[in-house]
Amino acid sequence: AAKAAGRGKHCFYEPSMHSEAADRQLLENDLRQAIDRGELNVVYQPIVRASTEEISGFESLVRWTHPVRGAISPEKFIPLAEECGLIGQIGQWVLETALKEAANWPDHVRIAVNLSPIQFNDPAVVDAIAKAIDESGVKPAQVELEITEGVFLADSDHTEDTFARLKKLGVRLALDDFGTGYSSLGYLKKAPFDKIKIDQSFVRGAAAPSSRNTAIIRAIVSLAESLEMETCAEGVETHDDLALIRELGCSHVQGYIFGRPAAADQARALANRSRVEAAGFQCMREPRH
Ligand code: C2E
Ligand code: MG
Ligand code: MG
Ligand code: MG
Repeated sequence: AAKAAGRGKHCFYEPSMHSEAADRQLLENDLRQAIDRGELNVVYQPIVRASTEEISGFESLVRWTHPVRGAISPEKFIPLAEECGLIGQIGQWVLETALKEAANWPDHVRIAVNLSPIQFNDPAVVDAIAKAIDESGVKPAQVELEITEGVFLADSDHTEDTFARLKKLGVRLALDDFGTGYSSLGYLKKAPFDKIKIDQSFVRGAAAPSSRNTAIIRAIVSLAESLEMETCAEGVETHDDLALIRELGCSHVQGYIFGRPAAADQARALANRSRVEAAGFQCMREPRH
């Protein structure tokens, strides 16, 4: 191999020189076993009422600690799981884990769970969610499902029917990452969302002078209010951004300023307090990934 490398050719035996495709395949094999090996866990990030700083709930976020590579971002392994058919299993595990944890919180504290479009399009999704609710003991109204515009790409009778059945189940629905996808206003008409989550790309640095983001956030809040939906600004990190988000009338705030995603026991302690102060939880750090 060394000789080949010396001639300027590829060295096939050097692990660092695996092709991207081979690397993906290795990662996929590892992900397949990650649940059984206990490498996945769920962390919880506070969502706060903007006006009172009361804890409204927590968003559950999955983490994967690879035995060799360490922390792998969900931005990387969730798309992989979606492509290789593992998202159903992982998503159900997150749902069950998060709901069981939320059963330890006061009844008014919500649990938000991200639902991949692939999970949403599974004909068994409503039954799977109903089962997780039953087994955990949380109230359906405590559960908020975060759905992205991706679910509308496979626009079918199933989509409409699923929304109707989820509403009947009594869970809440949030439109996640609003503004980054196709953002057809028709989606807001079709689906009975209770909340719009304004994507961090509009929120971060929104307080900068002459930021166009301000106008965009104002428009989204106004639209949501007319439709009687809540709004959550994602990714609020600074006091300046928080002040602006309040002024623009977002009903909810999520971001490092109120706490990073935290382990279950820390979230449980926080859930039992009524309020959380901006930047008051230095202990709730998780490393950036
Ligand atoms: P998301 O659902 O929009 O989740 C919010 C993301 O923003 C989280 O990243 C959170 O840690 C991050 N975040 C929150 N506040 C701040 C802030 O103030 N500053 C910065 N820089 N970031 C902030 P995370 O946990 O890395 O997750 C990324 C994405 O991966 C999620 O975006 C979601 O799309 C996906 N994801 C995570 N867990 C799950 C899951 O259990 N199921 C599914 N289907 N997707 C998941
Ligand atoms: Mg989300
Ligand atoms: Mg989001
Ligand atoms: Mg996002």
